[in-house]
Amino acid sequence: MNKLWMTINGANAEGDLSPISVLNPADETVIYEAPQASIEQLDLAVEGAVNAFKTWSALSQAERDVYINKIADTIEENAEQLANIIVNEQGKPLQLAHMEVGGAVAWTRYATNIDIPVEVYQETDDKRIEGRRKPIGVVGSITPWNWPLMIAIWHIIPALRMGNTVISKPSELTPINTLHLGELLQDVLPAGVFSVVCGDGKIGQAMSEHKKINKIVFTGSTLSGQRIMKSAANNLKRLTLELGGNDAAVILPDANLSKLAEAIFNTAFINMGQTCAAIKRIYVHQSQHDQLCELLAEIADKNIVGSGLSADTTFGPVQNKNQLEKVISLVEDAKSHGATIYAGGNRLDTPGYFYPPTIVGNANHGMRIVDEEQFGPVVPIIRYTDVDDAIQQANSLEVGLGGSIWGDLDSAMQLASKLDCGTVWINGHAEILPHVPFGGCKMSGFGVEFGLEGLLENSLLQVTNINKN
Ligand code: NDP
Repeated sequence: MNKLWMTINGANAEGDLSPISVLNPADETVIYEAPQASIEQLDLAVEGAVNAFKTWSALSQAERDVYINKIADTIEENAEQLANIIVNEQGKPLQLAHMEVGGAVAWTRYATNIDIPVEVYQETDDKRIEGRRKPIGVVGSITPWNWPLMIAIWHIIPALRMGNTVISKPSELTPINTLHLGELLQDVLPAGVFSVVCGDGKIGQAMSEHKKINKIVFTGSTLSGQRIMKSAANNLKRLTLELGGNDAAVILPDANLSKLAEAIFNTAFINMGQTCAAIKRIYVHQSQHDQLCELLAEIADKNIVGSGLSADTTFGPVQNKNQLEKVISLVEDAKSHGATIYAGGNRLDTPGYFYPPTIVGNANHGMRIVDEEQFGPVVPIIRYTDVDDAIQQANSLEVGLGGSIWGDLDSAMQLASKLDCGTVWINGHAEILPHVPFGGCKMSGFGVEFGLEGLLENSLLQVTNINKN
C-alpha cells in the first residue's frame, strides 16, 4: 500500500510518535504502519481548524453544498480503492464494503438537500422574534472500527454542512480509510476545514479535553462515552454520543417464523454482528423457541466464512482480537450455564479472527451473553411466557439504542411505545436512513444523527428579538 499521511491544516503530516501497526483481521498480518499524532500535532490541527472556521462558516449553505457534492464525487471516484481498504483493515466481505462506500456517498449527498429553517416565534406589528442556526466552531469526530468510513462520514458531513470545521480521529484499528479520505479531500476543501489525526484513546481523550474544540461527536463504547463526557466539561463541549446498545427483538406469539427467520438473521448478523443497531437479543414465546433456533441455525450454517476478498465469502472475520475474545468468553459462559448451541459456537481453526454465525438457544438473563453487548457473530434466544414478560425482559438492561417487534402488525403497533429505546422497528431492525433521526436513550447515549435533527445538532440556536418601532 502507498504511504499515507495524516492531514493537518490541508497538508500531509508524518506522525511525531511511533507508528501504529494495522492488522488484517483475515490473516493477522500487519498491513500498514499508520502515523501517530502527538498532542502538539493535535494542537496544530486545532489551530488550523480555528482559522479555517472564519471563512468556512461565512459561506452560504449553497456554497458549502458545492464542496460537499465534490466530496461525494471524490468518494465515488475512489470507491473501488476505498472498498478494498475497508475489507483489508475491517474484514467485511467486499460486497458489504461497497455498500459502506455507497452509504457514505448517499449520506454525503443527502446533507445538501436539507434547508435549515428560520423559526419565527412571534410576528406582530411591533415585534419579530426568530431563531437562527449558527455553527458551533471546531467539531471533533471520534470513530470506531465497525463501519469506519460510513461512521466517519456520518460525523463529518453534517458538521461541515452547518459551517463547522472538523478534526477526525479514526479508531487505531481501522485508520487507513480515513487517512486516505483526508488526503483525497486536501484537493477538495480549503486548508484546515478537515483534518485527520491518528492515535489511540489518548488522542481522543486530548480532543475531548481540548479548550478550542467546541463539540465532540462520538460513536463507540459507553465507557469511552462516559470518559468523553467528563473531559468535555472542561469547556462545556456539545456532545453527540452514540454508544453501545444491546438491542432486543421481541417475536410475538404465533408469528410466522418461517417467513421472518431470514430477516431476523440478517438484521442480527449484519457486518458479522458488529453493528450498533443490530439485534443482540431475541425474545420468543416459549412454545416457538425450538423452531426459531432451528430455523436460524439452518440459515447460519449456509454461510461461507472466510476472507472478505474471496468471491464466495458471505461472512468475514471479527475485526479484532479483543472483540473475538469477548465473543468466545460470552459463548463459553453461556455453554457453562446450560445454553444450547444450535449453530457455530467455536472459533475456526485457521489464522484470522474467524468465528462462525452462532445461535445460542435456552439463554437467560444472568448469562453474560444476554446481559452484555456481544457486538459479534452470536445471538442469544430467550424464552418468554407472555408479551408483558417479553417487554419487561427487553427493557431490563441499562441500554436503549434500538428494539423491534415482529409478527402481527396491529399487536406490534400497540406495543412499540413500551420498548425503552431510540428507534423501534416493526418487522425489521437495523434500518438506518439518511433522512431519519437515529439515536439512543439510557446508557446508549444522547443526541441524534441524520435528518434535519441530526444537522441541527451541529449548530447553536441564536434568538433574535426585534423591536420594529
Ligand atoms: P471504544 O469506545 O474504546 O473505541 C471507539 C473510539 O473511541 C476509538 O476511536 C477509540 O480509540 C476512542 N477512544 C477510546 N478511549 C477514548 C477516550 N477515553 N476518549 C476519547 N476517545 C477514546 O470501543 P472499542 O473499540 O474498545 O469497542 C468496545 C465495545 O464498544 C464493543 O464491544 C461494543 O460493545 C462497543 N462499540 C460500539 C460501537 C457502536 O457503533 N456504537 C462501535 C464500536 C464499539 P482507539 O480504539 O484508537 O484507542
